[in-house]
Amino acid sequence: MSNTNYSFFGAVERSFDKAAKFTKWDEGILEQIKACNAVYRMNFPVKIGDKIEVIKAYRVQHSHHKSPCKGGIRFSKAVNLDEVMALAALMTYKCAIVNVPFGGAKGGISIDPKQYTPYQLENITRRYTSELTKKNFIGPGIDVPAPDYGTGEREMAWILDTYTQLKPGEIDAAGCVTGKPITQGGVWGRREATGLGVFYGLRAVCKMPEVMTKVGLTTGVGGKKVIVQGLGNVGYHSAKFFQNAGSRIVALAEYEGAIWSNDGLDVDAVFNHRKATGSILNFPGATNFENSADALEMECDILIPAALENVIDGENAARVKAKIIGEAANGPLTPEADEIFAQRGILVVPDMYLNAGGVTVSYFEWLKNLSHVRYGRMEKRFEETQNANMIKKVEELTGKTISEQDKSKIVHGPDEIDLVYSGLEETMINATHEVMDAWKANSEIPDMRTAAYVVAINKVGVAYAELGIFP
Ligand code: GLU
Repeated sequence: MSNTNYSFFGAVERSFDKAAKFTKWDEGILEQIKACNAVYRMNFPVKIGDKIEVIKAYRVQHSHHKSPCKGGIRFSKAVNLDEVMALAALMTYKCAIVNVPFGGAKGGISIDPKQYTPYQLENITRRYTSELTKKNFIGPGIDVPAPDYGTGEREMAWILDTYTQLKPGEIDAAGCVTGKPITQGGVWGRREATGLGVFYGLRAVCKMPEVMTKVGLTTGVGGKKVIVQGLGNVGYHSAKFFQNAGSRIVALAEYEGAIWSNDGLDVDAVFNHRKATGSILNFPGATNFENSADALEMECDILIPAALENVIDGENAARVKAKIIGEAANGPLTPEADEIFAQRGILVVPDMYLNAGGVTVSYFEWLKNLSHVRYGRMEKRFEETQNANMIKKVEELTGKTISEQDKSKIVHGPDEIDLVYSGLEETMINATHEVMDAWKANSEIPDMRTAAYVVAINKVGVAYAELGIFP
């Protein structure tokens, strides 16, 4: 997985520079956009059993061009400053592309969460939150963490509780973190948001005839052979939405290995098998591959790396057979892999907008927290009454009756989940078109990632210019 000799932040800077020459911004603005604005690196003690352990942790605020900063918190032994800086930078660009008005940030704690009990993890998370609060690195208007690799709703609830204890009476405290459980101010749809966004984004790409002809595929996601690497929150939901749309999930991979079935795998059945047996391998009817990375090189139409960074590099890129690669993870391809795919005519749909569904729905959650009302509460019943009246009138005027089934579909006023899904769908479709248009507008732009960076740089550049920092 993550190669420690490789600078992830360096790779992000390289991709940025590659795109910067297609923009009109002068050197100073580009330097400012690229730089990490604030880095907080901490070491704090936590009692683990009868020993004291010194925990290494980070929070990087990449850009303050908009407030608050936003980005997940990762628990992984591979966490280091370079990685957190890179991920924070990607958050800035990601938010810009999907018009989420936040600066980018990222946090990380260098631990393997599997080595700790829930009680110990709670102590670590709470102490990390107090450190952030002490240094003013967290707050609904300052910096808003969220889940990432190795964290989820449980950790977000601990963060919220610690923050509220330290800031009594802060009316908007619930907006200090997103990805919370629903009972703690979370929003419906946040859990599956990244995977759903990956699906909406790739589906929009697959609807573009000129793009699909270029890669040698027919339009639409139906019947496409899909491989997903990683069966965590993002991978599981990405795979599930593709399966629901009629794609064939021919392979799934986790760190213990990969499985292949030409007839297609049922994602939930594989998920439950792994839960029951502790491994993805030996799934009935599927072929085992002990080496997880083999899945990246198998025959398919769409490959979705949804685990960690740098899984496809200059070494294995030449053997990848997919026509489209959808980056559900952050940074799964190295710049060398990018170049190989550009030469081979393989379309790489880049992380920085494709996996923006998580932060987009986090934005909806944050808005819900600041408005102190759930989505749909004010309008649902009103809309249902209006729709029912309209149906009644149509029936009266036409003398025909609409079936009860159709009636209930038409009458239905929006619940929170309907609005979240629809807001996310709109966001992902618009972002896909915006990035594709930028790519089409300049034939010198070599790939979709560079086009995405161009869109992001221009948006952050405008924000800085409007702030008047650069007269
Ligand atoms: N960790 C997710 C990401 O990398 C979500 C961040 C957020 O919701 O703030 O995009």
